[in-house]
Amino acid sequence: MPNAFWCVVEDDRKGFPKKVTAEVIGEAVRLAGSAEALWVTDTASEEGLQQLAAWGATKVWLLEAAAFAPYQGEVWVPAVAELVAKESPRAIFAPVTARQREFVARLAARLGAGLAADAVGFALEGDRLTATRPVYAGKLLSRVTWTKPPWVATLRPNVFRPAEAQPGRSASVERPAVAAPEPRMKLVERREEVSTGLPELAEAETVISGGRGMKGPENYVILEDLGRVIGAAVGASRAAVDAGWRPHRFQIGQTGRTISPKLYLGFGVSGAIQHLAGMRTSKVIVAVNKDPEAPIFKVADYGIVGDLFEVVPAMEKEFKKLYG
Ligand SMILES: Cc1cc2nc3c(=O)[nH]c(=O)nc-3n(C[C@H](O)[C@H](O)[C@H](O)COP(=O)(O)OP(=O)(O)OC[C@H]3O[C@@H](n4cnc5c(N)ncnc54)[C@H](O)[C@@H]3O)c2cc1C
Repeated sequence: MPNAFWCVVEDDRKGFPKKVTAEVIGEAVRLAGSAEALWVTDTASEEGLQQLAAWGATKVWLLEAAAFAPYQGEVWVPAVAELVAKESPRAIFAPVTARQREFVARLAARLGAGLAADAVGFALEGDRLTATRPVYAGKLLSRVTWTKPPWVATLRPNVFRPAEAQPGRSASVERPAVAAPEPRMKLVERREEVSTGLPELAEAETVISGGRGMKGPENYVILEDLGRVIGAAVGASRAAVDAGWRPHRFQIGQTGRTISPKLYLGFGVSGAIQHLAGMRTSKVIVAVNKDPEAPIFKVADYGIVGDLFEVVPAMEKEFKKLYG
């Protein structure tokens, strides 16, 4: 439908859309009253299609072909650009993930469209959409608008309210024929990261964060043990990441991940403004720090002044009792 808001689906590579997709659909529906999903994949499952409908997509544009996996911009972009030229959506929204960030930037360039990257807010007044996005590493917020459609934007995860799933809703599925060009690059080898067995940081309802107070990489094992008991993801501050204790994908904050879990537990994290930028919308914040003046206590709902190396094992023991 011309004037439609398209929401690019981020999936788990196994045929199921990720929670960030619900956030994008939720925001599109809030703005436009309805949303359509655009799913580029090699395998879309029936449950995945139902999930998109349950989140409120009225139509799914499904580009399903073996050529679309693994993601390659040079394959995705011409195929989607062809479809956009035919269907003229009014807006194309995608979540900020490693591949969508690249794909959408390339798509916008191909379409000659304006791109608001990493948006944290939108306002639609009549025919004018305005996006709010952080600039200068989050020191300022800028408001931008588009001179012509399609309005292309990527949405920062864990900022927008996800669409609530209403099972039983249905969506029509369009499988348009588009040409997927031969890639000029070949995948030589794929290495899966060794799973920690803990939930993913951006998706977890409970997040534990370890800062410089952890004193070294070897000590994160106590946070992972606690994480296993309470089903939490384990993240880190930038100080810990810069020290090489944790990979960058675990960094929480302005230059890392933005999270908004139900429960955030910070251990040995001082609460620098840049760390808070990535977690202050958490529903309940618990801080453990041996310095009673640590700034994190200003945003914490519950604070424990103490040595984390005593508090973490004590917490683990109590939670084990609680969860049996
Ligand atoms: C442009 C820019 C972007 C940035 N982006 C980010 C970002 O994305 N994420 C981020 O986190 N930071 C970011 N930073 C860095 C940020 O300013 C801080 O330096 C960083 O967050 C500090 O990490 P920390 O709290 O782990 O370390 P510290 O500030 O050193 O705090 C360590 C805390 O541990 C406590 N402690 C020590 N030992 C114990 C113990 N045994 N038990 C309990 N408590 C203990 C101390 O009292 C202290 O409060 C950014 C900075 C800049 C300039």
